[in-house]
Amino acid sequence: MNQLLSERILNMATSATLAMAAKARELKAEGKDIIGLSLGEPDFNTPEFIKDAAKTAIDEDYNSYTPVDGYAELKQAIITKFKRDNNISYQPSQIVVSTGAKQCLANVALVMLNEGDEVILPCPYWVSYADIVKLSDGVPVEVVTSIENDFKMTPQQLEAAITPKTKMIWFSSPCNPSGSVYSKSELRALADVLKNYPNIYIVSDEIYEHINFVGGHASMAEFEDMYDRTITINGVSKAFAMTGWRIGFLGAPEAIARACNKMQGQITSGANCIAQRAVITALEASPTKVQYMIDEFKVRRDLILGLLKDIDGFTCNTPEGAFYVFPDVTAFFGKTFNGTLIKNATDFSLYLLEAALVATVTGDAFGNPNCIRISYAASQDQIIEAVNRIKKAVS
Ligand code: PMP
Ligand code: GLU
Repeated sequence: MNQLLSERILNMATSATLAMAAKARELKAEGKDIIGLSLGEPDFNTPEFIKDAAKTAIDEDYNSYTPVDGYAELKQAIITKFKRDNNISYQPSQIVVSTGAKQCLANVALVMLNEGDEVILPCPYWVSYADIVKLSDGVPVEVVTSIENDFKMTPQQLEAAITPKTKMIWFSSPCNPSGSVYSKSELRALADVLKNYPNIYIVSDEIYEHINFVGGHASMAEFEDMYDRTITINGVSKAFAMTGWRIGFLGAPEAIARACNKMQGQITSGANCIAQRAVITALEASPTKVQYMIDEFKVRRDLILGLLKDIDGFTCNTPEGAFYVFPDVTAFFGKTFNGTLIKNATDFSLYLLEAALVATVTGDAFGNPNCIRISYAASQDQIIEAVNRIKKAVS
């Protein structure tokens, strides 16, 4: 008998972030007072000036299919943004606008990977990387980093992970889930290793670029010798509080960008017309227009770090960007609650959901089974209440 579903989907893990968010929503609908710290999504509203641009676009009858790779004016705004913020020069033929940075990543994997190609993923990595790579017949190669090194991959670790099958390396800085930010000199040290392997490509996921508490975001494509081998991914979901608008974009060597355009042309066509018009306005604005959100994220980072420090068993690095803490919780493994043994981070995260009514995400989903991810994109009151509940639950 024919099997209903493909091996492809049967072998794929469900996105743990989205699954936990759905579970939290379900429990809330049942009347449970859940604090959702699982989903990485700003709790701010999209700024008024961006919403106004979308309203104008509707009134101006932007309703037709868009060019597959994005409106020319949006591509121009992206080019200006890359030059202004990252000192990277792209031509329009090197830019592709997609339905979220997630689609940019999927496009890149689908157009670049052949069966057995290895993709180096410094752990912890963003939840969807490994499954997007596997979907594209690639093989994720995890490089385990340590909390002592702020969860950053060292040049030695990179060198050791490279094999003749290595096709790419994917990483995010600021990192989801660890909040680590690679400085320019740290990126240069990784580039110095890659210099000796001219066939390895780099996916530099910079979606948290602006949510950076140390100032000074660095991009791999800034380095002249990496430019032709780097795919720079970015988007508006995080910095502009536009997760639901679904616009992401990439800058890449032309052949890769054209291939992404071709892939997208068969799968989704161009991204939403109204959202694209609004994003032109978002990107043309000075990044200082969204500084108030970043300032608030920094206050919350300090708040949650301070509160977690008071709980025995939580060990945190100091995140320098994004809006997550990624504490090591191994101290709780082997403990029993109501007859249930907490064996790993997944059990611990489920325990917090049940006993503290706080939704977090297991580190397993990010390639690190010792940690859990807590999003602090929530109000200060919610953060205080959530950590209080966690403290009670583990005491
Ligand atoms: N990369 C990273 C590191 C992320 O955290 C996210 C968040 N969803 C994405 C990519 C995808 O973003 P989006 O599809 O909303 O643009
Ligand atoms: N990037 C967010 C997160 O990591 C959104 C969820 C998702 O797209 O998986 O929680």
